[in-house]
This record gives sequence, C-alpha cells and structure tokens, in this order.
Amino acid sequence: MLRKLFTPVLALLAGSAMAQSDDSLMIRNIADEILVNGKAYENLRVLCKTVGGRVAGSPQMLKAESWGVKALQAAGADKVWLQECMVPHWVRGAKEEAYYLIDGKKIALNVLALGNSMGSGPKGVSAPIILINSFEELEKRKDEIKGKIVFYNYKFNSKFVKTFQSYGDASRYRGTGASRAAKYGALAVLVRSMSHSTDNHPHTGAMNYDTTYSKIPAAAVGLEDADKLAAALAANKKVSGFLKTNAQMLPDEKGHNVIGELIGTEHPEQIITIGGHLDSWDPAEGAHDDGAGCVHSIEVLRVLKAIGYKPKNTIRIVLFANEENGLRGGTAYAKEAKEKGEKHIFALESDAGGFTPRGFGFSLANPSQLQKVQTWADLFKPYGVFELTNGGGGADIGPLKGALGTPLAGFVPDSQRYFDIHHAKSDVFENVNKRELELGAVNMAALIYLIDKYGL
Ligand SMILES: [Zn+2]
Repeated sequence: MLRKLFTPVLALLAGSAMAQSDDSLMIRNIADEILVNGKAYENLRVLCKTVGGRVAGSPQMLKAESWGVKALQAAGADKVWLQECMVPHWVRGAKEEAYYLIDGKKIALNVLALGNSMGSGPKGVSAPIILINSFEELEKRKDEIKGKIVFYNYKFNSKFVKTFQSYGDASRYRGTGASRAAKYGALAVLVRSMSHSTDNHPHTGAMNYDTTYSKIPAAAVGLEDADKLAAALAANKKVSGFLKTNAQMLPDEKGHNVIGELIGTEHPEQIITIGGHLDSWDPAEGAHDDGAGCVHSIEVLRVLKAIGYKPKNTIRIVLFANEENGLRGGTAYAKEAKEKGEKHIFALESDAGGFTPRGFGFSLANPSQLQKVQTWADLFKPYGVFELTNGGGGADIGPLKGALGTPLAGFVPDSQRYFDIHHAKSDVFENVNKRELELGAVNMAALIYLIDKYGL
C-alpha cells in the first residue's frame, strides 16, 4: 500500500530532478557563454564613451538610439525597429552657480538643477536661507517661508539595509519640495542629495511642479556642502544665499523605444519583454542608470541566440525612452501593445544598476505563480541569486501591468553602492565591474529561459 502510494510520487520527483539537471546544464551553458564571450561590458563602454549622458530630447538621445539598433542587430535579433513616442525636452543650460554668505564671506555650494525645473532668470535668486528638515517642519513654519530660499535637509535613512527604501523615503523632497515651498512664498529650493555617498557630488533627478503655485528654481546640493550649510543655519547664524540656474523646458521632441526580438518557434504571438531605459541624466554617462540595464537586456538576446536556444515564445528586448523625467517610452509601449491586442506573458526590467546579483522581485497574478518560480531557486544559487521574492518590477514595464495585467519582475542587484553614484557625476563606466555586470545578465537569461520553457 505504502509502496503503491509512493511510486507515482517518486516518479514525479525523479522526473523533476531530471528536468532540474537539464535546466542546470542549460544555465551553466548560458553562464559559460556570457562569462567567456560576453558583450555586455564592451557594449556599455561604447554607449558610455561615445554617447555619454542622454537626456530625453537631446541630440545624445538620438545617438543612443542608433547605438541600440546596432547593438541589437549585432546580438543576432531577428528583427529590430524603432517605436516612436513624443518625449519632454528639458535642458540644463549653462552651469549653475550657488553660494551662501556668512558675515560677508562667500562660501560656494556644489549644486545641480533638478530635472524638469525652471531656471532662476539671469539675475539669479538672492534671499535668506531657511533650514527645513522635513515637510512636517515646513507646515509648522509656513509663516516664515515667504521671500526665502528653502533648504530641505532631509537625510537618507541609513537604517534601511535595502537602499531603495531610503530613496523612496527621501525622494519626495526632490519631487514635490519646490511646489510645497512655493505654496508659502519661497523663491527657490535647495535639496539635500538623495544619497549616503561620502563625496560632495550633487545628485540630480526629476521634480514636478504643481501648477497651482509659481514654478520656482530647484537644485540638489552635494552632501558635504549640505552638512556645512545645515551646521551654519543650525547655529542660528543669519545666512543669505544665491542660486542661479539656467534650465528650461522646450517643446516635446520625437524620441523612440528601440526594440529587437527573437521570434518564438511555438507561440510567436506570446511576448516576453526584457528591458532597461536608454535615457539618462546629463552630469555623467548613465553607466549604472541605466546603461547596465540596456546591455543586460541585449545580452539576454545575444546569449540565447549564441547557444542556439530556440525560444518557444517571442523574446523582445526594449530599450525604453524617457524613464527619468516622463516615462513616455513605457507608456507608449503598453498603449500600442493594448491597441494591437498583443499577448504579453511576462516582462522583466533591469534598472537598479550593474552590481552583484542578489535576486528578483516579482509582481505576479497569484501566489501559485510565485511558488512555481521559487521551485527554481536552486538553479540560481551557483550564480549568486538567493532571493525570489514578492513585490517588484520596473517603472518602464509598470504600464504593461496596468494595461494588460502582465506579470512582472525586476532584477535586484546589491544596492549598497547604487545611490553613491545615482544621477551624479560618478555614474561612469569606470564604476562598473565587468564580472558583476555579466553575472546580472547570466541570471536574467536563466530566468527568461525558465519562464519561456515552463511558463508561469
Ligand atoms: Zn533608472
């Protein structure tokens, strides 16, 4: 009786062990190809060093698009095309100028205008600076704001081990701080950079105006300068400041998502999307954010082609336009998918840097899909992925879930160094490690292989 009961169970276990060993061989094959013949690092070098920073609407954005087309063709895509979308066109203009004055002595501040912000005008803003540590404090002291430069000194919370939590917490000040201060009559805002780096580079990033209030200039301050300025203000010194920014928002420009695919052999109509965003901020080269995600995605296509894997479903790589200050690329992609009645079975994004892999975060249709994914856990462990957890995705693929209910995942690399360089001068190719970058692509390709083969 016992034997009868257990035989089918044992057979099932043996079958699944066999599938696991086939799969582990296939993933070993994927890893060998990437770690020996990988193109991700060289692709990233070309993007960073021949194109550099590539804000939506800029001439560099167009150069980046042609880089993407060439890289996808060289990777072996069956088909490569551009999907048009209109993108905002924000320009920084001439270098910003900022300082504060104590007892007539000028002390320079290292600042960068925030993305989407308006310039101060040619005369700049000269006004007393008021230190505001939180939005709660802003509300309490709303009567003191008029005619001043508000300096938000909200700190990146060091207690969060996963630094994206600190970022989510602090980035409200960058996003909405200007309008909240303008509501009470502020003339400009300075925002402590969203980082816990140990240098003084300011970190830019998108802000948005509430059009009810005046569009005042806004700039990020490097951490060393932010600490000095905060100390001076906390000592109750009368501190006046000067900020001149030269940014403006021009009319929308034509931009593109760059798309390449391997056509599925059994279900060509079922699409698996893998992507990162092609645009980046201008102070650096957008190496980790998000050049890494673009070359990771291209490498997934390249490796599957190189090892002769014939996907059942269509594997589509998308280098999204305009994640940073508008999300127009991801929005256009989902809109067209819906209009054409496309069937999107899964989407994966890499937009957290090219660091050592840790895991994937999933936003799936039901708990049984996550349980299925978790049965693959042992296959990832040799390559450094230990966490297959609930919750995750990416900004660019988010609209697909909204429009079509597509299950999503986000690649999760180690996050300790990401916000040191994020949106700052230091996000350059030299700060990307070749092996770490390649291991990201290995794990992404392994996940795509398993989902293509078994579905969710
Ligand atoms: Zn990004």
